Amino acid sequence: MTSIMEIDYYEVLGVSGSASSDGIKKAYRKLAMKFHPDRNPGDEEAEEKFKQATEAYEVLSDSSKRQIYDTYGFEGLKSRGYQGPNFEDVFSSFGDIFGDIFGFGRTETRRSKQGPTRGSDLRYDLSITFMEAVHGISKDIEIERPDTCWTCEGTGLRPGYKAETCSTCDGRGQVVRSQGFFRMSTTCPQCRGEGEIIKDPCADCDGAGLVKSKKKVSLKIPAGVDTGAKMRLRDTGEGGRKGGPAGDLYVIIHVEPHEFFLREGDLIYCQYPLDFDQAALGYDLEIPTIHGKKKLKIPRGTQTGQRFTLKNEGVQHLRGNVRGDMIVEVAVTTPKKLTKRQKELLREFGELERKKEKDNGEGLLKKLLHFGR
Ligand SMILES: [Zn+2]
Ligand SMILES: [Zn+2]
Repeated sequence: MTSIMEIDYYEVLGVSGSASSDGIKKAYRKLAMKFHPDRNPGDEEAEEKFKQATEAYEVLSDSSKRQIYDTYGFEGLKSRGYQGPNFEDVFSSFGDIFGDIFGFGRTETRRSKQGPTRGSDLRYDLSITFMEAVHGISKDIEIERPDTCWTCEGTGLRPGYKAETCSTCDGRGQVVRSQGFFRMSTTCPQCRGEGEIIKDPCADCDGAGLVKSKKKVSLKIPAGVDTGAKMRLRDTGEGGRKGGPAGDLYVIIHVEPHEFFLREGDLIYCQYPLDFDQAALGYDLEIPTIHGKKKLKIPRGTQTGQRFTLKNEGVQHLRGNVRGDMIVEVAVTTPKKLTKRQKELLREFGELERKKEKDNGEGLLKKLLHFGR
């Protein structure tokens, strides 16, 4: 950690006391380009100059810090808690000014070292039946998740003990590595970004700050949900650490298919087999719907593939009290096994049918033409 240096910021940057913020930025850019450690590997003098320029820039580019410095000098900054630039911040502000000139902008979002950490969001996949989805249901599920260890309040420390600052990264949680021409800031391998090392871990969680814990959750699944529906349960995910809040739990709904209903949004489809006499003569059917048995009038002369709509017999919309429709598609079936009597009747029926067609001049050709319509 750098501490505040007793230097003349204006002199370091080579600008006058009345320099504009643009002039200060330009001056710093020039010096930073010249003395940046990437360009002067192993040159301690250059590194020192780079650090001085950075500190000067940090103070003079901030109008309130600059005002304090102009009026009270170093002591004014110190007494207000200013401690000089943090190496990490140097890199991020550097990225802001230079963009990708050196190949790095802002580094990946760092985990909040030493501070409260929110738990991760968790996912739970729940299968429900077709009818449960259509009508809604209350379900109790039991989830197992990492929850905050309340012995150590998620700190991972044995009660009464303290963590030690990580010596590898000096508590920053990040280390800077040179890779050829580039310098990269990466998570400290020693403390894994925590900035501190636990030498006396909590016995209940082995220092993790989290323990496996089961929890019962009551879910109220609304009518009309479908596969892919997400329910968010706040604070039911992984527990927080070091006083951070818990994550959320997302329950993802999977709806099992039904043996004869097919659903598309709020619409229900089904195929219904009709005996050919019912199709020819017309028939009052009792059809199963998702809301119970309903009557459906089949008109005479109904053909295979014809569709009938049962209004409002579909699925209730997830939001609002509207129901979709049910579509019934009929399939006229040909009987496979006939009794002697049925055969006689059908032969007689056939003879009458052919005679009628002949009388009306409806030969095979006309039938074929009819099909090709
Ligand atoms: Zn613990
Ligand atoms: Zn470390």
